[in-house]
Amino acid sequence: MARPYSIAVDLGGTHIRAALFLGQDTTPVRHTRGLTPHTPDQAPILEAVAHAIQDVLPPDPDLANVSIAIGTPGPVDPFRGMVLSAPNIPSWRDLPLRDWILRRYPATVYIANDANLAALGELTFGAGQGATDIVYLALGTGIGGGVITGGRLLLGSRGLGAELGHVTVDPRGPRCACGRTGHLEALASGPAIAREARARLAGGAFSSLSKLYRSDPLTVTAELIADAARQGDAFSRTLVADTAAVLARFIADCLAVFSPQRVILGGGVMALGDLLLAPIREGVANHAMAAVYLEQLTICAAQLGDDAGLIGGLALCLNPALQPGSPVS
Ligand SMILES: [Zn+2]
Repeated sequence: MARPYSIAVDLGGTHIRAALFLGQDTTPVRHTRGLTPHTPDQAPILEAVAHAIQDVLPPDPDLANVSIAIGTPGPVDPFRGMVLSAPNIPSWRDLPLRDWILRRYPATVYIANDANLAALGELTFGAGQGATDIVYLALGTGIGGGVITGGRLLLGSRGLGAELGHVTVDPRGPRCACGRTGHLEALASGPAIAREARARLAGGAFSSLSKLYRSDPLTVTAELIADAARQGDAFSRTLVADTAAVLARFIADCLAVFSPQRVILGGGVMALGDLLLAPIREGVANHAMAAVYLEQLTICAAQLGDDAGLIGGLALCLNPALQPGSPVS
């Protein structure tokens, strides 16, 4: 029997967000947002997480009635409740987050990778409803991944799966934020698209963004490229098509490995909408190993937007079996 109150925390490199949910209602009863402290010490970040939880506690907090799910980026050991490392938060390493939170709040506490939580959110309340096998990609500043197989997260032996953004798609490709080379994230994340645009503009390509580039190259962002593509800028459209081609080949590989019913694409890069989705669908159809992988397959946009991680936290609190190895509520 699920506990009546669920608290979801989304710990990002920039913001800490928390929300209180009652029952299965995905509209939070309370929510809060603060800045993630950037310090070499772990203590201020832990305090900030505790503060966010405190902000959204139910009016009469009986912690026996509360579950807490915390999502963080990067490798997380959900079995031991440990954050192993996190991009953009150097001090966030080998951190026993669940034990620390339990000392403050003796509730039921789950720790998860943020993209895995977002995948659970889409499965339970978003674009994945009714499916049992999903590949989820969050295309943003980085690329997060979540794979749901047989209705539950695919985690692997240490709980570290499924970091789809860090699969090598071009061994001679650019360096990834993780330090390796040619990963999907280094080719199809927002910063990767902007970096490629700047390289092409530096090489003399013409675009409606050329003037902006000449005044300050760093002002050319993925958001502006998306705007220019929507307005018909041929340079930006080519860039989007090239990004779609990379993603289509990768998704075709995912079909062969996971045989999903749905591939759900979220994150800020999906502001491109059909400009990105249409060529991805076409490319996947061209690259799939066999037509049978395309039968009953839907490739679609995520539905939960920025709240996918928080709503995924709610989904996990309501149904801990979604993340195998989690403590039973
Ligand atoms: Zn990487």
